[in-house]
Amino acid sequence: MKIGILGAGQLGRMLALDGFRLGHDFSLYDPNGKASAGVGTIYNDPDGLVLDIFLRQVDTITYEFEHLPLELVNQIARQKPVHPVPRALEVCQNRRHEKALFSELGIPTAAYHIATSAEELREAVERLDGPVVAKSVTEGYDGKGQAVIESPEDAAGAWDAIGHSEVVAEQFVDFKREVSIVAVRGSDDEIAFYPLAENIHHEGILRFSIAPAQKLAPGLEEEAQRMIRALMNELGYVGVLALELFDTGDGLMANEMAPRVHNSGHWTQNGATTSQFENHIRAVSGLPLGDTSAFAPTCMINVIGETGPVEKLLELPYTHLHLYGKSPKPGRKIGHINIRADSPEELRWRAMNTASLLPGCPDFEWRP
Ligand code: ATP
Ligand code: MG
Ligand code: MG
Repeated sequence: MKIGILGAGQLGRMLALDGFRLGHDFSLYDPNGKASAGVGTIYNDPDGLVLDIFLRQVDTITYEFEHLPLELVNQIARQKPVHPVPRALEVCQNRRHEKALFSELGIPTAAYHIATSAEELREAVERLDGPVVAKSVTEGYDGKGQAVIESPEDAAGAWDAIGHSEVVAEQFVDFKREVSIVAVRGSDDEIAFYPLAENIHHEGILRFSIAPAQKLAPGLEEEAQRMIRALMNELGYVGVLALELFDTGDGLMANEMAPRVHNSGHWTQNGATTSQFENHIRAVSGLPLGDTSAFAPTCMINVIGETGPVEKLLELPYTHLHLYGKSPKPGRKIGHINIRADSPEELRWRAMNTASLLPGCPDFEWRP
């Protein structure tokens, strides 16, 4: 099958790399003209000059990026099948819509208010009492467009720093840890769940994912599955969906979702029977889903900014290095390393060792 991917960053690249093995061909279309890591035929098309040619080359379309112009995706969906449904994009592009859908489906979130002026943001902080995380309603990623507000006097400064016309003020969640669930829904409505991953962020960016998450309270995994199943069924979703969650020690709270393969699912390339990338391609091309179980404790470490000496990383017998072919730049995700071990203790040592070789990587402080 000829598959078109909207977006041509590392997620598009890894989808294509796994999809080629299934005999598919790939064309990647970047409407921002910033294709950075794609493989296959790349259409770098900021002026929309070659959209028709791209569409003629492909049988079905998916996306790897949620900040795509919605009108463009709807226009494409009138000409070719698009999976996941464009409504998933619409919801994920707007934190207000996303939170409304969560509450409609009984998925708990932090208390929040929407603000459309500095004054409203101040009122929201007063009403929520305690620290607040303010986020632009649209366009944020990697913690960009966010500010933590400690008291109402700080609201005006935060409003200016965020610089958007609509902001969501959320109660700061004093979580025990962050986890995520990645699931895939096939064209026959079957759903398969990956085990929960535990996620450690640094400076607003995901740095480590450990999967399967250890020592989950009884029922927590099922609770996460219930949430993501409700979202997928409501949306009539086909493909991989990720849901970021806070483990509060007293249950789960949803943070946000991503209608695509997700950084916290990269571990599946080396730690699960079928990777999230292969399963997404299977789903959007109408093939049966693959087994989502993990076969060993696995840790994913993002390579951010620069790699340092690659030879040193590869000398370690347990590292699986994935580089995206992107130019190094501070704060930029340019690759990741997957590490597998026979036990969580061994995984800890291996990940500590690997993290110490990566420039700017914080210490790996996780304990099983
Ligand atoms: P992503 O790159 O995951 O799309 P994003 O810019 O959309 O990031 P969020 O995922 O909403 O931002 O927030 C980034 C991180 O900030 C979260 O993973 C979490 O660590 C922290 N955070 C966000 N909201 C809250 C909150 N209400 N309480 C406490 N911490 C929060
Ligand atoms: Mg996000
Ligand atoms: Mg997030």
